[in-house]
Amino acid sequence: MERQRRFEGPSDLHLHSTHSDGTEPPAQVMAAAHRHGLRTAALTDHDTTSGWAEAAEAATSLGMTFLPGMELSARHRWRSVHLLAYLVDPDDAGLRAMTDRIRSSRLDRARIMADRIAQDYDIAWDDIAAQTTDGATVGRPHIADALVARGIVADRTEAFAGILHPANDYYVALYAPDPVTAVELVVGAGGVPIVAHPAGRALLPDGVTASMLAAGLKGFELRHRENLPEPTAQLAALARSHDLIVTGSSDYHGLGKPNVPGENTTDDDMVARIIAAGRGSSPVFP
Ligand code: AMP
Ligand code: FE
Ligand code: FE
Ligand code: ZN
Repeated sequence: MERQRRFEGPSDLHLHSTHSDGTEPPAQVMAAAHRHGLRTAALTDHDTTSGWAEAAEAATSLGMTFLPGMELSARHRWRSVHLLAYLVDPDDAGLRAMTDRIRSSRLDRARIMADRIAQDYDIAWDDIAAQTTDGATVGRPHIADALVARGIVADRTEAFAGILHPANDYYVALYAPDPVTAVELVVGAGGVPIVAHPAGRALLPDGVTASMLAAGLKGFELRHRENLPEPTAQLAALARSHDLIVTGSSDYHGLGKPNVPGENTTDDDMVARIIAAGRGSSPVFP
């Protein structure tokens, strides 16, 4: 019955909190979304749903609709693929096993990267731990914040361009499922899978995208500051011919990135399609 109630736009469906690599707790993220004029917002922390309750409470108390989400890590060969997963069942056993595995790998990998960096710079694991909150999904942004706190780099951008760049010997890949498995897990958890920032570089091979669509991929995040014009146009054509969902979002990370809530938004009819397709959890209305 909740499901029948109408959300209101504008809608931003991709924001991060301190439950992963954002710099603000979920309630503050929803307050930022509200300040920027949004009426519907999703929380999409990397590989975790642990921020949902706080975000839902904050959003609805501000008169906004909360859409539960997550950004699931995946990988095709060397290339990382991020899969937005809306309205999944947070207790689904298959998805939980996978996110537990990814988060534990992220922690191991961050420790190895820290050891490698510590050979050349004055930084220790404690510096990185100090940049995370208990239970948060650990990522390179936390290492970046530790490097900033130590005065080694000026900001996350400089850290990612240098010390944390994958081409650098300090880099260690995290474990992540292939993109088709990731889509299957999200579908199995009743969720709506949409590829995040899919056009930041050359597109995935056509065969991979076709397999993801066959597995139940529902759409693409076409409006995102990292998407490039040419591959975005190609995906827009694909989306039209397959009647897929297309979204636009900020990918807000608090102070961790220049992205601001609402810099891209998702059209109402597309939000409605996501809500209609999601079975694992429900939007929370004010
Ligand atoms: P990881 O998943 O640990 O390999 O780190 C990737 C994360 O770092 C992504 O989720 C981005 O949010 C963040 N990130 C990537 N590039 C940058 C950048 N140049 N500045 C700030 N954050 C970044
Ligand atoms: Fe991130
Ligand atoms: Fe992402
Ligand atoms: Zn993101």
